Amino acid sequence: MNIALIAHDKKKELMIQFCIAYKGILEKHVLCATGTTGSLVMEATGLDIHRFLSGPQGGDQQIGARIAYNEIDLVLFFRDPLTPQAHEPDVSALLRLCDVHNIPVATNVATAEVLVLGLERGDLDWRDIVNPKPEPETKKE
Ligand code: PGA
Repeated sequence: MNIALIAHDKKKELMIQFCIAYKGILEKHVLCATGTTGSLVMEATGLDIHRFLSGPQGGDQQIGARIAYNEIDLVLFFRDPLTPQAHEPDVSALLRLCDVHNIPVATNVATAEVLVLGLERGDLDWRDIVNPKPEPETKKE
């Protein structure tokens, strides 16, 4: 599965801890992230992550474009609802595209945990039917 990771600044430490905790599951999948989130998680976990631009520079829009092309299977987006974001329109656009394309998306750690455990259990295997992956791109098993 192709998984996108995004965390607003005050949620980055939480994303790092989450990725450490679930490294065993995440490492079986193809990961991408906005720039800063990706760098921090890579550094802390050693996970291989394709990094797009930083969120405020357009990273959310880049991930949104992949969602529109049905190339992302799961989005873990740890939002900070208490701090105004300069790129709020990009955030709304990304979440809107998740709803347009029925992409599982978590906007907080509690839901992220449920989705990642569901992913491991096979609950999201339907995504491989909707979005068949070319062999080299699929890391799973
Ligand atoms: P960042 O972007 O990972 O580059 O900080 C996240 C965001 O959208 O704020």
